[in-house]
Amino acid sequence: MKNKRVLITGAAGFLGSHLCDRFTQEGFQVIGMDNLITGDLANIEHLFKLPNFEFYHHDVSNFVHVSGKLDYILHFASPASPIDYLKIPIQTLKVSSLGTHNLLGLALEKKARILVASTSEIYGDPLVNPQPEEYWGNVNPVGPRGVYDEAKRFQEAITMAYHTFHGLETRIVRIFNTYGPRMRLNDGRVLPTFIGQALRGEDLTVFGDGSQTRSFCYVDDLVEGIYRLLFSDYALPMNIGNPDEITINEFGEEILRLTQADQRLICKPLPTDDPKQRRPDISKAKQILGWEPKVSRSEGLKITYEYFKQIEDKNQQFKDF
Ligand code: NAD
Ligand code: UDP
Repeated sequence: MKNKRVLITGAAGFLGSHLCDRFTQEGFQVIGMDNLITGDLANIEHLFKLPNFEFYHHDVSNFVHVSGKLDYILHFASPASPIDYLKIPIQTLKVSSLGTHNLLGLALEKKARILVASTSEIYGDPLVNPQPEEYWGNVNPVGPRGVYDEAKRFQEAITMAYHTFHGLETRIVRIFNTYGPRMRLNDGRVLPTFIGQALRGEDLTVFGDGSQTRSFCYVDDLVEGIYRLLFSDYALPMNIGNPDEITINEFGEEILRLTQADQRLICKPLPTDDPKQRRPDISKAKQILGWEPKVSRSEGLKITYEYFKQIEDKNQQFKDF
């Protein structure tokens, strides 16, 4: 892969940085691009010394120019946590609409294959469980989550249009809740929030009655699925996630056991339009990519907990200083 060049947008974020790791390790020439709105250069600083990594600070909702050839584009730039996209709704809409349009144009110009990061949120509050790719979803376009869900639905539509109208090589991955090192402790998503609360001796905040479900996938499994999808010839959307479904209450109990914390779960109001159930049907990924997740929640959580413990220890040292 020495001569292949790949552009990864959202490179300084959680998933983008893990993709940069994988593609540099595989020997690609990697160009990372990010405007750092929710990302952190610390996630990729170890890559700056590599001869096959370069970084551009750029907002991809504005025209994107890359000189030289490009073989692949992975578009991962977008806020992904509900509290982020509620804080910056317009940027969220722009990056998956205007940003995707810019990157599709770039892919066309460079004759590159493009993979875009879609999401289980395009299913909204699903009335079908588990969710197969054929399910069209149940989204409130004008609710608070609409800025993310509808932008991602537009992203899928314009990506398919470039595929059918221009014959562009496109891939669409529908990512379900993913976790692992390099998530931000304060990004508001349930896993870093619960682990952070457990570490600080606070009670764990369960939204609603905690009966809503999610299915958590460890980041290494996700990256493997994305890698296989990119090099497959499958252009329709593909779910990648771990079907091991759990209620948020059970998940909270699991975090308390893992961290040996003696706090409690406390109830907070359920955010508007919070999906009641979510679990991927991964039959297509199994059949077409020969992919399924390998890392159990207990293994993945241990690794992630160790990571967050180090971060929290560092934060504490700064406070004591
Ligand atoms: P993240 O917030 O950690 O990373 C997103 C990165 O994109 C950040 O570094 C941010 O600075 C950058 N970015 C945002 N807008 C940009 C812009 N206009 N121009 C350039 N850079 C920009 O989030 P993540 O969890 O790594 O998510 C990455 C992608 O995966 C997103 O597209 C998200 O929708 C998708 N996704 C993630 C999950 C998940 O569980 N993590 C689930 C479904 C979909
Ligand atoms: N959640 C919670 N407490 C928190 C943060 C989130 O109970 O402190 C719930 C949230 O309401 C949702 C689930 O956990 O039902 C997953 O939330 P997250 O923000 O991680 O992801 P998403 O809703 O996008 O799946």
